Amino acid sequence: MHRWRRVAIAAAVAMAGTAGEAQTVPALVQQQLPGLLTTYKGLHEAPELSHHEVKTSALLANELRKAGYTVTERIGRYPDGSQAYGVVGILKNGAGPTLLVRTDLDALPVQEKTGLPYASKVRTKNDAGQDVSVMHACGHDIHITTMIGVARNMAALKDRWHGTLMLIGQPSEETIDGAKAMLADHLYERFGRPDMAIALHDTNIPAGEVAVVPGPAFASSTSIDVVMRGIGSHGSAPEDGKDPIVMAAEFIVDLQTVVSRSISPQEPGVVTVGDIHGGTKRNIIPDEVKMELTTRSYSEDVRQAIIQGVKRTAQGVAIAAGVPESRMPVVTVLENESTPAMINDTALSERLVKLFVEKLGAANVVKMKPIMGSEDFGVFSLDGKIPSVIFWLGAYDPAKVAESKKSGVPLPYLHSPLFAPDPEPTLRTGVTAMTDAALELLK
Ligand SMILES: [Zn+2]
Ligand SMILES: [Zn+2]
Repeated sequence: MHRWRRVAIAAAVAMAGTAGEAQTVPALVQQQLPGLLTTYKGLHEAPELSHHEVKTSALLANELRKAGYTVTERIGRYPDGSQAYGVVGILKNGAGPTLLVRTDLDALPVQEKTGLPYASKVRTKNDAGQDVSVMHACGHDIHITTMIGVARNMAALKDRWHGTLMLIGQPSEETIDGAKAMLADHLYERFGRPDMAIALHDTNIPAGEVAVVPGPAFASSTSIDVVMRGIGSHGSAPEDGKDPIVMAAEFIVDLQTVVSRSISPQEPGVVTVGDIHGGTKRNIIPDEVKMELTTRSYSEDVRQAIIQGVKRTAQGVAIAAGVPESRMPVVTVLENESTPAMINDTALSERLVKLFVEKLGAANVVKMKPIMGSEDFGVFSLDGKIPSVIFWLGAYDPAKVAESKKSGVPLPYLHSPLFAPDPEPTLRTGVTAMTDAALELLK
């Protein structure tokens, strides 16, 4: 009897010992990788546009539930009253701070040209009713898969942290209205206000590497619609009309001086006309031309200067063309499709850099500069009141990065139809880095 008990205890200790060894973060990640790769490829093949993340959000919710989280779906309300597909997964683990970790869920209207076996063939109608192809060209499928891995790791490692983990599946990042929609649906009132928030974004640096940009990291983005209104007439009789196509052309050229001539060269700013539509037939002068603009800046002063510059330029061109008062251009600033700059909290950035150097090795923690791209993750920080950091995750095969440096041909960047992360090393580093970060911030 005694002998058997000793054997049983010895066996239990040995098992606990094995389990203890298997519980390192890299070992947990390694066990999960094959399953995560399958999940990633499934997500990549089935991308959904912003505002329509029905299956993607359900998949994430289901995985979080299986990992032991309390999950609520369909969180978020857009200004037009429609429902957003936000997901919140909560894991409470005693007293302590609340950490928000966010993934985005949506894909882009891009036709994939990677030729990968799991390339997307999805076509759907966009909100304007046009047929479009859809692709995870920004790698949000990497982010979602990473979150699933992190969720499981944190559930398995509950003895190594305390507090509350709040996992957020955010819809509509590409249209930058998803984070706002979740807050408008009383995210923090319903689930608690986090003490810190972190996220990651993949990019075309080598897989295995991460980068934290302390302070300003992503620019603010302001969407502006401009309608140049003229007076339509026969294409052979321009004297009978006011040609909005010529006005639009002048407007676009003049616009190039808004940043170069009215903003200090020390301050970054961008104005881009990304979409222009006008006319129906070669021999008709239409009565209006519509343009969609995006503008980027870091400071509110520059943002306002650009908005005023766009208005002034549109008005000036119309006046010069002799457009009557009643047909002046209409300039609309779409506040709901605009987002503030993302400023990474400096102290939190430093803490993460130190941690990543320790866990991933100094050579894998690289420096990157702020970009003029935008992210609505900063919205969760409530204007910087909640310390927040979004860091970069390398997603490219290092051999391809080296080849591109040698040949001078740039690698496909985010939103390219050729954007193709190397999923295995990317997910390995993403899940490891994010798990380590969550453990550190909740230790
Ligand atoms: Zn994107
Ligand atoms: Zn993105």
